[in-house]
Order: sequence, then structure tokens, then C-alpha cells
Amino acid sequence: MDVVSRSYYVGAARWRQSLVTLVDPLVFAMDSDPARWQWLFAAPHGARRPIGPSWMHWLDQAQDHRCFWCHQPLTASTATVEHVLPYGDALWPRLTRLEQLLSLRRSHAVCNAGYNTWRQHQSTDTLAQMDAMLVRHIRQQIHRHPLLMLSHYHHYTPLAQ
Ligand SMILES: [Zn+2]
Repeated sequence: MDVVSRSYYVGAARWRQSLVTLVDPLVFAMDSDPARWQWLFAAPHGARRPIGPSWMHWLDQAQDHRCFWCHQPLTASTATVEHVLPYGDALWPRLTRLEQLLSLRRSHAVCNAGYNTWRQHQSTDTLAQMDAMLVRHIRQQIHRHPLLMLSHYHHYTPLAQ
């Protein structure tokens, strides 16, 4: 199928379900081993701060090792980091690290490229509305859990050099 004609629009119900699948086990894991997860509250990711392999592993587990877009199985050689909220956009640096991490998914390289192409063919309004909805749901999930609210307090704490 032509990637542009295929819709990559992320609906609210699907996004919310995807977030719950990611967040609920995370809160449980954080509660039982806080030291392991402190890095979630560090400074936001920038160009020199790549996403760590432990978070990739966490996403793979939450997605049952399936692509976020096509739901087919992912392998180590086909899996990529999907920036559902695009890395290059003005929105990305204004998110906390936890918000950034919760906006990531795993997808096939070809599906990842398809999403990028699809975005290029949408109106600015469509994308702005979708992205705002995605962020709103991420924040709702964070607000459900006092433990995750800590990310707001640590947002501006610089990491040790
Ligand atoms: Zn796929």
C-alpha cells in the first residue's frame, strides 16, 4: 500500500491504551526498585543524549515485541525508535524527559519511514491537533501516578558532568 494513502493518525482511544500498557507496569517496577529508574527524572533528551537500551527493552516488552503501526513482530534488525512526537519539532524540547520517553514507541524501519512521509502530507492544523492530544494523554497518565509526578520537580536538575 502507498504509505501516503495509509493513515497513521493516532486516535485517542488507541493512544491511551498504549500509554496504560506502558505506564502501569512501569509504576509497579518503580515502586519495587526506585534506584533503577531515577534516570527517568533526569534532564530532557537532546541531540547528545541518546535514548538508552533499557528503555528500548521496556518498550519492546510493553508492545509485546510488535510494531506500533502494523502490529507485526519486530526483530532486532527491523526495530527502530518511533518518535510519535517528532524529535525535530518545536514541541520535543519543551517536554520533560518522562514525557519524551512515554511518547516513544517501537516500529519497523519501513513503518517509521511511512509515518514520517504521512506527516509530511498532513496539514499543520491536523498535526498540531493530533500532537496536542498525544501530549494531553501522556500528561493525564503521569497525573494518575504521584510517583510519576516527581518528574516535574526534577525536570531542571542538571546531570553531573
Ligand atoms: Zn510495522
